[in-house]
Amino acid sequence: MGFSLSPFFNENLPMPIISTHGLYKQFGTGDVAVEVLRGVDLSIESGEFVAVMGPSGSGKSTLMSIIGGIEPPTSGRVILDGVDIANLSDDERTLLRRRKIGFVFQAFNLIPTLSAVENVALPLELDGLDWKSAKSRAMEALERVELTHRAAHIPAKLSGGEQQRVAVARALAIKPAILLADEPTGNLDSRQSGRITQLLADLARDSNQTIVMVTHDANVARSAFRLLMFRDGNIARDLNQDQFAANAQAFNVSSAPLPKSTPAGPVDPAILSEGNR
Ligand code: ADP
Ligand code: MG
Repeated sequence: MGFSLSPFFNENLPMPIISTHGLYKQFGTGDVAVEVLRGVDLSIESGEFVAVMGPSGSGKSTLMSIIGGIEPPTSGRVILDGVDIANLSDDERTLLRRRKIGFVFQAFNLIPTLSAVENVALPLELDGLDWKSAKSRAMEALERVELTHRAAHIPAKLSGGEQQRVAVARALAIKPAILLADEPTGNLDSRQSGRITQLLADLARDSNQTIVMVTHDANVARSAFRLLMFRDGNIARDLNQDQFAANAQAFNVSSAPLPKSTPAGPVDPAILSEGNR
């Protein structure tokens, strides 16, 4: 009934934790201008686990940076938990990034002189935890990605896959409301990929954390509850798990059922194999 105060407020609807409105991003000007995002409208509820797929260069990483407040859009808005991030001061934006958002970057961004456990502990300490507690929480996070035995090693002594898991642990440790993960399994073998995506699905289900994950691997994407297909700077398709399953063959997804440990979710994972029959 009645009117809403703004397009972003409606008491009858749950408020999305992430929404974008007419997001455009252009790099360069004049002849060398590249329009990377072309009017992205997106709404993600709290506790959703969203996979983003699409060709290389289609703007996926750019979208993640803009949602996370790392880069400003050329035009359009990003609303996180009801707050237009363009209206925040630099300090407020820094705090938002530290407290509310976890990032797993495509290039892991680990600090080369710090050990794995120190890399994971540092953001916790920056947020006010004493170093000893920060390290113990960091060890718990490393345990979840099966890396406690490598905790004392600096990044250069770790494989690409191990560095990637440290980056995932670092993002998990701060228990962010929003986790933005750009190709978090790009350097992992299929067993480790499965473990990490299972971990992300569990966080969304059990802790109501919201996860947006870019991946080129349809088998990784199918663990998500929703799939966005990105093309030419915009969302070409927005599929729920059922629709994804129905198109399984088109995505070349294995017909193997999801691991037995998968807890019952909003959609029975068995449904994913239905599409391949
Ligand atoms: P994806 O992650 O889907 O592969 P990106 O978002 O990384 O795509 O990049 C989309 C396009 O934007 C590419 O053509 C890329 O070269 C260009 N691009 C990304 N970042 C910059 C930048 N800082 N300056 C200029 N061009 C950029
Ligand atoms: Mg990318």
